[in-house]
Amino acid sequence: MNSNGYPGFRMSQPVNQSVISFQKENPMENHYPFLIWLFLWPFLPNYKVNVVNELTPAILHQLDIKYILLDVDCTLKRYDADVLEDWVLEWIHSLRKADIQICLLSNGKGKRIGKIAEQCQLPYEAMALKPLPNGCWRVIKRNQWNKKQTAMVGDQLFADVAAGNLAGIRTVHVTPIHPETEPIFTRVKRPLERLFFRLVPVQKINGKNDQPAEPAAE
Ligand SMILES: [Mg+2]
Repeated sequence: MNSNGYPGFRMSQPVNQSVISFQKENPMENHYPFLIWLFLWPFLPNYKVNVVNELTPAILHQLDIKYILLDVDCTLKRYDADVLEDWVLEWIHSLRKADIQICLLSNGKGKRIGKIAEQCQLPYEAMALKPLPNGCWRVIKRNQWNKKQTAMVGDQLFADVAAGNLAGIRTVHVTPIHPETEPIFTRVKRPLERLFFRLVPVQKINGKNDQPAEPAAE
C-alpha cells in the first residue's frame, strides 16, 4: 500500500514503499517499455480495473480525473441488458456527488443508448464510431472539458482505449461484463485482446490481476 492507502503498482516492479515514494508519476499508472509503446501505443491503457466502480471518487481525485467519457455495453452492463443495475447507478451517483462529470460515449444506436442515459440521467453521444477519436473530441469541445483531466473508460481495447489514446486523453480499461452476450462482430476481437494482455501485462489499479469480471458491490 502506498501512503494514500491504495495499492500502488508499476509494471514489472515489486511493490515497495521506498520505490513508490520516489516515483514522480502516479504509481497506479502503467508505464511501458519504449519499444512496446512505439508499436502499440493506441492500445495501451493508462489504467486498468476489474469493475468500473473501482474508480471511486477518491481514486479519480488521486489521478486528477474530473471528466469521464464512459462506454456502456459490457462496461456498465451486459450487452443484452436493457437497464443498469443498482450498483452502477450508485457508482454514478457517487461520482456526481464528487463533482465528476460524465458523458456516455457508445457506438450503439441512439434510441438504445438514450434509454440507458435516461435511466442514469447522463448526457450521451451514440454512434460514436470508436476507435475514431472524433466522438471524444466532440464531447470534450461541447462541454469545454480540460483534456488533461479527461479519461475514456471502456472495455474494448480496439474501440474504447484506441479512441481515447487517439484523442490524446487518458484511458482506463475495464474487464468486460459477460462478453459472451455481445454480437459476433465484437466477440471476434476478444481473442486478440486476450493475446494482447498475455503479451503486454497491464497492472490493474487494485492489483488483483486474476479476478474474473464480476460487479464489486451488490
Ligand atoms: Mg463496450
